[in-house]
Amino acid sequence: MMDSEGLRNEICGIGRRLWAMGHTPANAGNISVRLDAGRILITPTCVSKGDMRPDELVVMTLDGQVVGTGQASSEARMHLAIYEQRAEVVAVVHVHPPAACGFAASGTTLPCDLLSESADLLGAVPTVPFARPGTDEVAEGLRPYLVGSAVAFLLGNHGAVTVGSDLREAYHRMEILEHTAQVALNAQILGPRSIPIDSRG
Ligand SMILES: [Zn+2]
Repeated sequence: MMDSEGLRNEICGIGRRLWAMGHTPANAGNISVRLDAGRILITPTCVSKGDMRPDELVVMTLDGQVVGTGQASSEARMHLAIYEQRAEVVAVVHVHPPAACGFAASGTTLPCDLLSESADLLGAVPTVPFARPGTDEVAEGLRPYLVGSAVAFLLGNHGAVTVGSDLREAYHRMEILEHTAQVALNAQILGPRSIPIDSRG
């Protein structure tokens, strides 16, 4: 596994890309990764993902105690709930991408049968009922949806979450999630057509 400094730099790089894509307006969004069996590294609260510094990231135990200095993201409890329930997950990305948020805010299920990359890399994307951002209810609302193998989630009227076996995978899944949502909106205007069943592989 990459050392802590490498992971800090990788999270800041992903934060800049997510910000540049318009997925993290104001201070929205949070990113985390497992450091070892008992600790995670997570983005701080109230910092734009566009200009986060590696030394601002916060180390936390899996029971939610900050190790050292800093104030962790207000959605840290959601990240911890994911790590608690899904032993295979090593990284979590949560942002507010505009097209995916449109699906989350309209109660429309994201179609995963329009593009082969969404079918292959995301699979079915459940929508979790609304909970006020930053509260325990976000984590509690997500818990039932963590049973099973979903790797991407829409948070009702809020945003999107992806998980992965490393930071790159969780981040790429978020790119694909937002791309899928944008394509689904465009296809809705033109008239959507699913991938033929016998060609899905
Ligand atoms: Zn959020």
